[in-house]
Amino acid sequence: MLLYDQRKEVLATAQQLLKGGLVAATWGNVSARDPETDLIAITPSGMRYEILTAEDIAVVDLEGRLRDGKYQPSSETPMHTLIYRERPDVRAIVHTHSIFATVMATLKREIPPVIAELALGVGGNVPVADFAPPGTEELGRRALAGLGKGNAVLLQNHGVLTVGPNLERAFTIAAIVEDAAKIYVYSSLLGTPTLVPAEILADLFQAFQSYGQQKD
Ligand code: 13P
Ligand code: ZN
Repeated sequence: MLLYDQRKEVLATAQQLLKGGLVAATWGNVSARDPETDLIAITPSGMRYEILTAEDIAVVDLEGRLRDGKYQPSSETPMHTLIYRERPDVRAIVHTHSIFATVMATLKREIPPVIAELALGVGGNVPVADFAPPGTEELGRRALAGLGKGNAVLLQNHGVLTVGPNLERAFTIAAIVEDAAKIYVYSSLLGTPTLVPAEILADLFQAFQSYGQQKD
């Protein structure tokens, strides 16, 4: 089976998103790119993560053509492949419709660095990409433009997309973005939230690059 390890990891990440309440039912999708073959393991479209096995995860090439697997890949495959083609540093993508991030996306408001984790993980505001219909190449272009060189972007009236050098990091950023959005929304109800001081954002982001257990 092609990309067995990546398929297992994609499935584990999707199930973790479900457990963490970051996705509901079959919404959202997860992918990982194998740097050696440039093949991508991606969740199948419209299937419940709790009943999937590793072989149910689809494998596509950088143009989105199905290379292995018995199910149709995610309908957002064009967005994932476009980002992999344009951002060679990206090896994993997580897309969710997590509630508070989507509240901000619907208001078309960036999430400011209201908690230290967001400053650490993202390094500043989470931008909002302009609306494009789900499943289109245009959504991919808008997500990429919003993302720039960053690792998180809100998709107007839709959800959030995060990227990383591996699935663990893309998952962590998705969780941080949701926490920050939630804390921003709640704290805004009670007053004017303070922000992490702008002058230390770059240092915090730098420090996060060596956060946690470093693999040799
Ligand atoms: P898929 O089930 O096709 O991955 O679509 C879910 C989604 O989030 C669409 O934007
Ligand atoms: Zn979506």
